[in-house]
Amino acid sequence: MESLKELERCPAKTRMPSPYPGLCSFLMCNWPEVKTTAYDGEQASHEPVLKAMFLADTHLLGEFLGHWLDKLRREWQMERAFQTALWLLQPEVVFILGDVFDEGKWSTPEAWADDVERFQKMFRHPSHVQLKVVAGNHDIGFHYEMNTYKVERFEKVFSSERLFSWKGINFVMVNSVALNGDGCGICSEAEAELIEVSHRLNCSREQAHGSRRCGPGPLLPVSAPVLLQHYPLYRRSDANCSGDDAAPPEERDIPFKENYDVLSREASQKLLWWLQPRLVLSGHTHSACEVHHGGRVPELSVPSFSWRNRNNPSFIMGSITPTDYALSKCYLPREDVVLVIYCGAETKLLHLIMPVSDQKKLEK
Ligand SMILES: [Zn+2]
Repeated sequence: MESLKELERCPAKTRMPSPYPGLCSFLMCNWPEVKTTAYDGEQASHEPVLKAMFLADTHLLGEFLGHWLDKLRREWQMERAFQTALWLLQPEVVFILGDVFDEGKWSTPEAWADDVERFQKMFRHPSHVQLKVVAGNHDIGFHYEMNTYKVERFEKVFSSERLFSWKGINFVMVNSVALNGDGCGICSEAEAELIEVSHRLNCSREQAHGSRRCGPGPLLPVSAPVLLQHYPLYRRSDANCSGDDAAPPEERDIPFKENYDVLSREASQKLLWWLQPRLVLSGHTHSACEVHHGGRVPELSVPSFSWRNRNNPSFIMGSITPTDYALSKCYLPREDVVLVIYCGAETKLLHLIMPVSDQKKLEK
C-alpha cells in the first residue's frame, strides 16, 4: 500500500465515554484488514500478519513540574487505558515513539529510577508481547542538553537496538534527537549506525536479486522498513493536517523550526535515501497529521497518549505484512465527558445513600 488512505477511523460510536477509561472505546476497535496473499511472478504465497500498536508522548510527570494529583490521575488513566488495550486487542508488539517521560532531560538518578519504576508498572505486559521504545527530547534532552550519560541511562532501560525484524518485517528505530548533523560525538555515532542498517537492508535487497553476496551474519528479510522516530521528518508546518485530533486551526500555520519541531530538511532527506522506508511513524507534535514525502512515502504523526496533552488521546493499530499494511486509529474517551459522567454518578450515589429527609433539606 502506497498511501495512508486506508487509515480507518473507528466508527463515531467508538468515542463513547466510559466511566472506566478505555473500555467502551476499545470494545469497538478492531485490527484493520490487510491483504495476506503476495505474488512472486505466478507464485502466490500467504504472508503472516504482525499486530503492532503505536503510541507516543506519554510524558510521565517528574518531580518538578505538575501537581501530584495531576500526576496520579493521568498515570492511572494511561495505565488503565494501556492494560485494557492489551487485554482486549492482544497486540504482538507495542512501539512507544518517544517522550515517555517529561523530565528525563534533567532528572537526577533517583528521580529517573522512580520514573522508570512507575513506567514499568503502568506499561507492564506479558512476556510474549514486545515493548519497544525510541528516545524523545524529553527523555534524553534536546540536542544541546543531550549527553552520553542521559543516552546511556535511557538505552540501559529501553535497549539501544536500531533494527528490529519480526515476521519478515523490518522496523528501524531512530534516535532522531541525535540527527542534528553538527558532527557531535553522539550524532556521528547515530549516523554511522544508520548507515550500517542501510547497508544491511540494501544487501538483502540485492542478494534477493542475485546481484551481490552479503557478508557473514544473518540476512535481513527483503522488505522495505517501517521507520519509527520521535521527531517528524521535515514539513513546513501543520497547515495541511486535518481531522478532529490535528493541531488547533490557529496553530496549524505556524512554521516549524528545524531540529526543534521537526527534523532538518537534510536529516530527513538522508533518512529517506539511506533507508527507503515504506512507512514512517513519529510523535513529538502531540497532534495527528498525515503527510507524503516526495509524493510517495507516507508519514503519520501519532498524537499524544496522555489526557494531559489532549482531550481525545488515541493510538494506532497496524496490521503489517512484509509487503503491505493497514492502519486504524483507536480513540480513548474524551476526558471532559468522563469527568461529567463521574460527577453525575457521584450525585446519583449521594441520592441513593442519603435518607429521603436529608435529600429534601438539600433540595431546599
Ligand atoms: Zn518531543
